[in-house]
Amino acid sequence: MFQLFDTYTRELREVKAQDGKTLRFYCCGPTVYAAAHIGNFRTFVAQDVFRRVAELSGLRTKHVRNITDVDDKTIRNSQEQGVPLSEYTKRWTQKFHDDCQALNCLTPHVEPSAVGHIAEQIEIVQKLVDSGHAYCSEDGSVYFRISSYPEYGKLAHLDAQSLDLGKTAQTRADTDEYTKDSVADFVLWKARRPEDGENYWASPWGEGRPGWHLECSAMSHKYLGDTFDLHSGGVDLIFPHHENEIAQSRCACGGDFARHWFHVTHLLVDGAKMSKSLGNMYTLDDLVKLGHQPSALRYVLAGAYYRRPLNFTLMGLKDAASALRKLSRADAVLAEKAGDKVVPTYRELVKKTPNLGVFAPAWQSLLDDLNTPEALGHTFSALHGLNPAELSQEAAHEARLALRFIVEALGLILPPAEEEQPEAPAEVQAVAQERWQARLAKDWARADALRARLTELGWGMKDGRDSYQLIKL
Ligand code: AMP
Ligand code: ZN
Repeated sequence: MFQLFDTYTRELREVKAQDGKTLRFYCCGPTVYAAAHIGNFRTFVAQDVFRRVAELSGLRTKHVRNITDVDDKTIRNSQEQGVPLSEYTKRWTQKFHDDCQALNCLTPHVEPSAVGHIAEQIEIVQKLVDSGHAYCSEDGSVYFRISSYPEYGKLAHLDAQSLDLGKTAQTRADTDEYTKDSVADFVLWKARRPEDGENYWASPWGEGRPGWHLECSAMSHKYLGDTFDLHSGGVDLIFPHHENEIAQSRCACGGDFARHWFHVTHLLVDGAKMSKSLGNMYTLDDLVKLGHQPSALRYVLAGAYYRRPLNFTLMGLKDAASALRKLSRADAVLAEKAGDKVVPTYRELVKKTPNLGVFAPAWQSLLDDLNTPEALGHTFSALHGLNPAELSQEAAHEARLALRFIVEALGLILPPAEEEQPEAPAEVQAVAQERWQARLAKDWARADALRARLTELGWGMKDGRDSYQLIKL
């Protein structure tokens, strides 16, 4: 059973598809005004591991992740650069996709954008106005009246006192600079301002643009319905963003909205919050320029327990690269012993779960609240206890499939094993040469005998089309 902590109930709950068929989940996506930083990617990678574990555990999924392509930051930056908003956000959306690919994240099934769903957002605002949950101010902006929704604050576990103060709710709404009849009411539709330039749309309340919180309600409703299985984002989104999403969605569309809330704790750099002023804000490109591989970042991000802060260091990336080499080596040795020619793909492993054998504890850790560091610990212990030289061909094949299953659950990118092989001694090289010649001459009996001799010497041989590779067993 796959269990995950739920922010709403504050307990571990089974991850379940309500309709018994497809796990429908929504992740708040990037605001495409610059390259996403490694903190953003901590959250996106954790969500990717979540999806992989769900799929590998037998659940079909529908993964929706939006693109925030209209908000204060995207408008401000596009105007500073004198580029139309759509052109500007297209560029950063592409960059986001490239980085996701480099970090081996699965593509969501639907990736809707806020600008592409203005009509749907207006429809929700209209429903809220019609039902008395929202009101229009003198300037044509529309606000959600939080006093109309008694459940407000339940996700963030706000007590009545902090709600009375209304200070927290005001923090984010503040930047909007609109009048409100209650401090905590948040903006649904923002009346057109000169600084928005050409970025406005017609609405029943006049020209303007949607407030940031609204888009996720509109798009999750459109693609997942009024009740769906799970909603996710970084912890900073719990309040007010997700709280506001719940309020406006339940009041406009009925239904429960999300049944399970999955929030990812923040990444820190050298123990501190990432910020431009501290000069500790990294993007994937920054790390690549420093000579690190995306695969090392994937390992660091996927290998941290999502409910604890992740303290990122450059040293941690080096350790990750070394851990990946070990995994790659182990995989190559098992493949060699098994005579496996191809790497099993993620999709194949989703279709058929291998016998996990000694890797079963690692999988159990993943099913138990995505405890990825524990899963990695179990994986290395299992490898430590395995002696490929003693395994039958079939057992080596099974062990390799099981190892690949864990690697794929974490979405790790293994470097090619050949880079990692030590230099073979002269005697080994001579036997290998002889075997290669026998193989070319199609003298299979002799080639097999020489392979057996190589195994005795502790080496395996991987045959390519035009050359071979020696692998230390
Ligand atoms: P944004 O592009 O700002 O809308 O953020 C995209 C995602 O990254 C959201 O789910 C945020 O909660 C998350 N996020 C932002 N900063 C961090 C951080 N330092 N660590 C982990 N997740 C973060
Ligand atoms: Zn959202």
